[in-house]
Amino acid sequence: MATKIDYYAVLEISRDASGDEIKRAYRKLAMKYHPDRNQGDDEAESKFKEINEAYDVLKDEQKRAAYDRFGHAAFEGGGPGAGGFDFGGGGLGDIFEQMFGDMMGGRRGGGGRRAGADLQVQVTITFAEAFTGVKKKITVPTRVICESCDGTGSADKDQQPETCPSCHGAGKVRAQQGFFFVERPCPTCHGSGHLIRNPCKECQGTGTVEKNRSIEVAIPAGVEDGTRIRISGAGEAGGKGVPAGDLYVHVAVEPHPIFQRDGANVYCRVPVRMGQAALGTEIEVPVVDGSRTKVKIPAGTQTGEQFRLRGKGFSVLRSSARGDMYIQVVVETPRHLSKQQRELLEEFEGDAADHAKGSPESTGFFSKVKDFFEGKL
Ligand SMILES: [Zn+2]
Ligand SMILES: [Zn+2]
Repeated sequence: MATKIDYYAVLEISRDASGDEIKRAYRKLAMKYHPDRNQGDDEAESKFKEINEAYDVLKDEQKRAAYDRFGHAAFEGGGPGAGGFDFGGGGLGDIFEQMFGDMMGGRRGGGGRRAGADLQVQVTITFAEAFTGVKKKITVPTRVICESCDGTGSADKDQQPETCPSCHGAGKVRAQQGFFFVERPCPTCHGSGHLIRNPCKECQGTGTVEKNRSIEVAIPAGVEDGTRIRISGAGEAGGKGVPAGDLYVHVAVEPHPIFQRDGANVYCRVPVRMGQAALGTEIEVPVVDGSRTKVKIPAGTQTGEQFRLRGKGFSVLRSSARGDMYIQVVVETPRHLSKQQRELLEEFEGDAADHAKGSPESTGFFSKVKDFFEGKL
């Protein structure tokens, strides 16, 4: 695990910053590094995660106290309370989050914040595009940060959302039922942890609006039918500085009329006339990259024999390796013979004994058939 930066340094505040100062610093930085404003910028994305993590701890008085005392260790391996149920460090809140967090819809807890929803889209590309790689513009209907209120949800941008009086910003309330405490989302603020007095009209106070977004997706060379590409942070906006979801692009590759694919290898069935296969020849074959190349077909080539063209297949994803191309020969028997062709073939067929050497397979097969009828096999 990489060394963690001090949470106060992450939010660029002093160690004695007030709750309001923390909130202001967080909002300013979250806006700046929000994935919606920094699409495809990995550095901004990790910075955004850092900011959220730091804020998650420092906004909570109990967690902040634990952090001041134990540093990052307070939240690693279950914190100082792990194993011993030492309520002194992480406090009751953390224990509850550990016990109920997953049940209540995510460990993020602290205010009912959740990441934006993940989105799925399907993109169909041609066989040739899968070979070269391609950039595709796709339109994704999604929720994005409301520009009218900068994602605050408040009609008056300068008016900070008020902390919910019922849950004091926790987003959930606890009630004792017999022996147990039961936690549920706060009914006053619907789990958001705060109230907006004058909601933004564009987004009805949610901080996000529905919008068609156009995203360019780089589909790498060598992609296979059914591949799923994840673009982190390109899903639905989470609203109010919460991380966006991810976008999953499912790639479908159209079949090709003359090429078949198996992994990185490409197969092409090439018909060769009976005479060519018997005498030997050189044929010109197509390559997936659009070029053509010559292949020597030696005399006596049979149907099903294949010839390898090294490195003429697909790129292997995340590697510099390439597959091969295989030319699969199919010997074609002539139909609709002319009179002259027929005579030549009849002459060629002539004496069966002449074929014993040239057609070892048929000779071998028919001698086995003879044995079979004679009861020897
Ligand atoms: Zn509330
Ligand atoms: Zn709005």
